[in-house]
Amino acid sequence: MQTDVLIIGAGATGTGIARDLALRGVHCVVTESGDINAGASGGNHGLLHSGGRYVSNDTEAARECHEENLLLKRLAPQCVEDCGGLFVAVQGDDENFIADYPGWCAKAGVPVKTIDPDLAREMEPVLSDKLIAAYEVADASIDPFKLSLENMAHAKALTGSTLLRRTAVIGFDIEAGRIVRVQLVNTVTGEKSSIEATQIVNAAGAWTDRVAAMAGADISMLYSQGTLLVTHERMTDRVVNRLRPPGDGDILVPGGTVSILGTTSVTIPNPDLARPTVAEVDVNVRQGAGMIPSLMDTRYVRAYCGVRPLISAGGGDGRSVSRGFALFDHEDANLSNFCSVAGGKLTTFRMMAEKTADLVCRRLGNTKPSLTVSEPLPEASACEWTEPGRAPKLWAARHDSGDELLCECEMVPASAVDEIIHSCRDEFPDPGLQALGKRSRIGKGSCQGAFCGVRVAAHLYENGQMDSRQGLVKMREFFEERFKGQRPALWNAQLVQAELAEALHCGLLGLELVNPDDPQEVE
Ligand SMILES: Cc1cc2nc3c(=O)[nH]c(=O)nc-3n(C[C@H](O)[C@H](O)[C@H](O)COP(=O)(O)OP(=O)(O)OC[C@H]3O[C@@H](n4cnc5c(N)ncnc54)[C@H](O)[C@@H]3O)c2cc1C
Repeated sequence: MQTDVLIIGAGATGTGIARDLALRGVHCVVTESGDINAGASGGNHGLLHSGGRYVSNDTEAARECHEENLLLKRLAPQCVEDCGGLFVAVQGDDENFIADYPGWCAKAGVPVKTIDPDLAREMEPVLSDKLIAAYEVADASIDPFKLSLENMAHAKALTGSTLLRRTAVIGFDIEAGRIVRVQLVNTVTGEKSSIEATQIVNAAGAWTDRVAAMAGADISMLYSQGTLLVTHERMTDRVVNRLRPPGDGDILVPGGTVSILGTTSVTIPNPDLARPTVAEVDVNVRQGAGMIPSLMDTRYVRAYCGVRPLISAGGGDGRSVSRGFALFDHEDANLSNFCSVAGGKLTTFRMMAEKTADLVCRRLGNTKPSLTVSEPLPEASACEWTEPGRAPKLWAARHDSGDELLCECEMVPASAVDEIIHSCRDEFPDPGLQALGKRSRIGKGSCQGAFCGVRVAAHLYENGQMDSRQGLVKMREFFEERFKGQRPALWNAQLVQAELAEALHCGLLGLELVNPDDPQEVE
């Protein structure tokens, strides 16, 4: 296989680079060891930062966030809910920090408006009655799945660029200062292959240092795990931030029909070990309740986590390391067709992609400028199913009584599943529940896939997409993944829900007896 540019990692940065290059006429292959957004891009808070979070400790990152926030609201509005944001302080919070905040915002060029705490409580009635200060900022929420899927879909439409799912880079063949071949492995079947590319871009997030090391290049990184909690219902209209230096459990972001509380920052030795823990869940709930007391007894449907790909320039913990990004041309490692990009934020992914594509194009002799700063991101129909609340509206508007609802919590109809399978045929010839869950709301509701997982599998059997015991294996994998997120947040109503799921999956389907590692199970 051959391409102009091979991009390693299909997160927001990798797919953003693919789109930027495709807009300059360059063909790319994006190779991803898991699926799209398998790393931090699928495990973040979904906050399109106004910059307000960083004004006190990282003026440059705050300025970058502000600029990119404005651009994305204009150029990718379908991925953004422009809900606005509040920074609030409660009794006992540092009064000097509160007083200095507007000055820091002015220094970073981040717009801010002082508002009366009573007005803030009228705007968001769940806020604590101990509120002593409030500022309004231009925060928003962003759907990272829709963003990466649409970046990839646009790159494909422009130059036929492709995504190789479940295909990890395991080595490089280097001759005379150039990578002449990249070694790949299919992470499901173990089958090995290789690809030749004129330029290679390493956008592997928290794994960037490992990929660079395979080519003999050195990058020093810090792996900072953050755990987030998903509430059963949406609790505020706006993003709510605690007005204090960045810490645990101090942001609540609306995610369509739910709210996301987070996040922690725990340095871990290996990004493959990332798991949401009970201790982090407890910290988030306790800290969050300081600004929104009902967070203490609301229903949480799951927890999840991601690993921040932080560039460590020596010392510092996960909170003190800059949210700026770094681009490495690796010329000091005597390589002329390899570069790495890491750090930054989801909010600044476009800027990271532009700077990386500038370097790649210089090396390719391509003089076209980046267009992502002015060209709107087109909305692709197969990517619309990730949006919370959209499926019910579309389904109701179609009035098609034969279009069975496969997911009741999020109201995903059979036609949505068929559309995703149709449009992603080249990415997954063997559609599984995990891949469909990434591209829709399947499994995201209060039942966490307990019922829709079974219904979708039955639908796939009915239309010939699955046969033999394959469906049982795929259901087990899907439920195990959902349970990983539920386990640290199981109490009250969600515990009852999980017990019902266990009775259904083990008592009725006997899924605990299925062995996913036995090849005979999937024949
Ligand atoms: C808990 C948390 C909360 C956050 N909240 C926010 C927020 O609210 N707003 C914001 O702006 N930013 C936020 N961020 C930061 C943001 O998520 C990241 O900066 C961004 O998603 C990084 O994207 P990426 O594409 O560079 O990396 P990733 O999304 O991690 O993508 C890298 C990809 O590379 C793949 N990969 C790794 N090794 C290989 C290999 N050998 N071969 C092939 N593929 C490979 C991985 O599977 C992965 O999918 C948060 C981060 C975390 C962890």
